[in-house]
Amino acid sequence: MPASPPPSRLLLFLGLLTLIWGGSLLLDRQAPPGAPLPGGLADPDPLVLVRLERFAGGEALELGIRGRWRVVDDLGNMLHEGHGLDAPVRIDSGGYKVGPWRVRADSFWIEPEGDDALVLDQSRYHGRLRFELKRDRLLLPESFDVLLELPLEAYVLGVVCGELPTLAEGAAEALKAQAVAARSYALWRLRGGRRSLSDSPSDQRFRSIDWVTDEARRAVNATQGLVLVWDRALLPAWYHANCGGGTANAAVVGFSREEIRPLAGVPDPICAAGPVWERAVGPEVLDRIAVRDGLGDSFERMVLRERDVSGRLISAVLVGQDATLGYRGEDLRRDFGLPSTFWSSLRAVQDGSLVVRGTGRGHGVGMCQDGALRLSREGRAFQEILGRYYPGAGLSSLADLDRTDP
Ligand SMILES: [Zn+2]
Repeated sequence: MPASPPPSRLLLFLGLLTLIWGGSLLLDRQAPPGAPLPGGLADPDPLVLVRLERFAGGEALELGIRGRWRVVDDLGNMLHEGHGLDAPVRIDSGGYKVGPWRVRADSFWIEPEGDDALVLDQSRYHGRLRFELKRDRLLLPESFDVLLELPLEAYVLGVVCGELPTLAEGAAEALKAQAVAARSYALWRLRGGRRSLSDSPSDQRFRSIDWVTDEARRAVNATQGLVLVWDRALLPAWYHANCGGGTANAAVVGFSREEIRPLAGVPDPICAAGPVWERAVGPEVLDRIAVRDGLGDSFERMVLRERDVSGRLISAVLVGQDATLGYRGEDLRRDFGLPSTFWSSLRAVQDGSLVVRGTGRGHGVGMCQDGALRLSREGRAFQEILGRYYPGAGLSSLADLDRTDP
């Protein structure tokens, strides 16, 4: 990819935040991602904390551990240890119980000795587990959240397996592009001050070891430590399923405050021929939005305002009983629960619904995964795929990036 252009203030600011926040918001005993090691070198495989959404807010969880393990509190004190486990972690009025053992702490780690040794409700994971208690108003234990801490490269492997069909024919280069984008996005988020990443598509879909394929492993190994950079800082490498005919400008759809040239949007006309979707947005949804936003008790009509060069909806106006309000297309996509902002037609029907037809899936910013798979099948290298969807961004090893970090 071409060399980076001169720095923008936003990215210098982000770089500065990295320096300021790098060590302050992370957990005890956890190395901040990319934190300098003694001797000034950045950790080439920093730890990542992942929130496992399907166990969030639970009261019990079946946990299996192969080999030796220990339970450690936030100060590093060992509370219990054992060899092998197949028992629930659960809470009662007295707090946690791990199998027969009471754990007297609101948060703690379970650390297996071996790799790939954790089994959570029949899914296998690599890394160590963290439990965080939530208490109700009377301060009684109510539920807990489960987080997994694992090295960045192992995390990226789980994301590649969650985000793309790793066994699809000709996908090898797309998998590599996905690995680089996933690694860049994760580090950008964590270095920007986020403590953990969700394992859902709100960040990146992360899968257990049961989903890992040799194809995905090869892609992660081949791109080990490689990240996308812009202005000598990590690029927020967003990506989405299918652009519908052209990718979105991150600044226009509200993902970034300033223009980021690699995320300004590129045409991808082949995706316009992709599958068409049609969805009805019911009157109850429209009225709820009208009430929520002070437009009156009921929704009346919608006026489309602005589209980008590819045809993606940028802005529209909702007219309610009492007032009128402008909306960003991306916000309407979320409010209406639609697959994309690439709308080809909109009509009001008698029951008060709006029927929308369109193409594309996802927010449209950054790499188009369907496009990446198509380019990969055409024989394009991952560098070319990344250059296509993040034009002007550079490719750097994490070590080189941290060496030149201001
Ligand atoms: Zn596309």
